[in-house]
Amino acid sequence: MNRKIPVVKEILGANDQVAAENRRAFEETGVLAVNLMASPGAGKTSLILATAGRLPDSIRPGVIEGDIASSIDADTIAAHGIPVVQINTGGACHLDAPMIRSALPHLDLRAIDILFIENVGNLICPADFALGSRLNVVLASVAEGHDKPYKYPGIFTVADVVLLNKADLMAVFEFDLDSFRRGVTMLRPQAPIFVLSCRSGEGVDSWVQWLIAQR
Ligand code: MG
Ligand code: ZN
Repeated sequence: MNRKIPVVKEILGANDQVAAENRRAFEETGVLAVNLMASPGAGKTSLILATAGRLPDSIRPGVIEGDIASSIDADTIAAHGIPVVQINTGGACHLDAPMIRSALPHLDLRAIDILFIENVGNLICPADFALGSRLNVVLASVAEGHDKPYKYPGIFTVADVVLLNKADLMAVFEFDLDSFRRGVTMLRPQAPIFVLSCRSGEGVDSWVQWLIAQR
């Protein structure tokens, strides 16, 4: 029989405990923590910058950057004057709750109102690891094709909101928006879908207003 299953359950159980501690830390300091999940190149870092740039001054952003290696994205965020902590997963393809816990002492949570956690670019296992965030954001992009909800259903079933980036390329990629919407709605009927472009700026305001309303 498959002996791996009990081990996996144990790991996920331990992760959930730490995720609950992280959630408490966020609640106590009034932080709205957002777990941003997407495939590589969908525009996670661009979305964080586009969103942070549209927040009113009274809502202060912070970022935890998860990457397998390098600090390219964290450097980009820091260059915009946003508090950021880098987690290098050392090859692991997702963030987990203990990694977030280890990052928290390096952030002044009382000086942050919305904490964006940029997960490792991957549409599969990030869905299985709670971090303690309040919102799961799944970001897809037009360039990846409209079949993503059908091919990677797991991640869409945990989404609180689904964003579709690179809307300005819709015609170029012959993207079937109706098919994409149907796929998402079938898996997660309660998740709103925002179609936007971080490059052109279209649709970004609607998403930001929705996000602010979640606080
Ligand atoms: Mg990035
Ligand atoms: Zn993984």
